[in-house]
Amino acid sequence: MSSTDCVKVAVRVRPLVEREISRGCVQIVEKTPGEPQISITGESNSKTQDSYTFNNVFMPEDSQDKVYNDCITPILGKLFEGYNVTILAYGQTGSGKTHTMGTVFDGEWDASRVGIIPRALKDIFKTVQTMENDYTVSVSCSFMELYQEVLFDLLTDRPREQSVCEIREDGTKGIIINGLCEIPANDENKANNCLILGGSKRTVGATAMNDVSSRSHAIFIVNVRSQKLDGSESTSAKFTLVDLAGSERSKKTKATGTRFKEGVKINQGLLALGNVISALGGGSSGGYISYRDSKLTRLLQDSLGGNSVTLMVACISPADYNIEETLSTLRYADRAKKI
Ligand code: ADP
Ligand code: MG
Repeated sequence: MSSTDCVKVAVRVRPLVEREISRGCVQIVEKTPGEPQISITGESNSKTQDSYTFNNVFMPEDSQDKVYNDCITPILGKLFEGYNVTILAYGQTGSGKTHTMGTVFDGEWDASRVGIIPRALKDIFKTVQTMENDYTVSVSCSFMELYQEVLFDLLTDRPREQSVCEIREDGTKGIIINGLCEIPANDENKANNCLILGGSKRTVGATAMNDVSSRSHAIFIVNVRSQKLDGSESTSAKFTLVDLAGSERSKKTKATGTRFKEGVKINQGLLALGNVISALGGGSSGGYISYRDSKLTRLLQDSLGGNSVTLMVACISPADYNIEETLSTLRYADRAKKI
């Protein structure tokens, strides 16, 4: 695969939310008709009339279904060809990352509301079913949370203090996460249950931007291993779904103390991630890619680059109130797809 095939970037603009409407916010994000291009308009923004082009652009009226069909369906099949597939949701708190990813899932299948993860699980098991005459397929799930550079296993029975995992590098096996639970999931229900269980254990904290915002990265992994019944071929691949911590700068969130320190760690991780992705997109196969700069990139090392396909979904608010964060997200996303 060429470098343009292995990193894709989509932008999703969510609808104005109640809070923005009651504040009198106006929508300043526009899509160029017929093009996957975003521009920022309005008088409040006379100095930046930039436009940005991505692989896909989704507007407030675009459904979960459309996002899934346009962006995920085309790459999910790669998993069964042995590629690692990675989806990252980036954006400020409240921009629609969790909604888009479907990281919080209560098991209720509202087909229009549900996000990427449960949809993908459904499709993975559909594919597994079609393979069962010729292959033995095993699927397992892991779910973890990276908070303040500490990695927690969200699927263990152990109490939180004892659920910390260490990242280790193994010369032949690549990245190993010591002690991380891998729950066998041979059907959709079992896999969804992993998502639900892990979600119930996540850390949440309050900032001025969002009452219950995610200050940690949530990483859900589906391992798919298949072996032809006659033993002639086998593949092993990982589907990694990352609901990143909010990318907002700490000034606007009036963060102090712990919240401020969280912000610094989050920004370091996101910066390192941006560097890695843009290096990958640049096809710098011979060049140096600095995975070691943060725990987030170390953790994702074998899910990014090499034998993998990566999609970043940058989520933004349409409101004038959020223009600084929106521009910052668009620049980050733009840099990620630079080739
Ligand atoms: P984040 O995870 O980035 O903090 P959320 O996914 O929690 O943001 O979204 C914030 C709010 O906006 C939630 O109430 C969510 O339901 C709503 N929302 C986000 N994206 C959309 C969308 N595309 N359509 C409708 N509502 C959305
Ligand atoms: Mg969230």
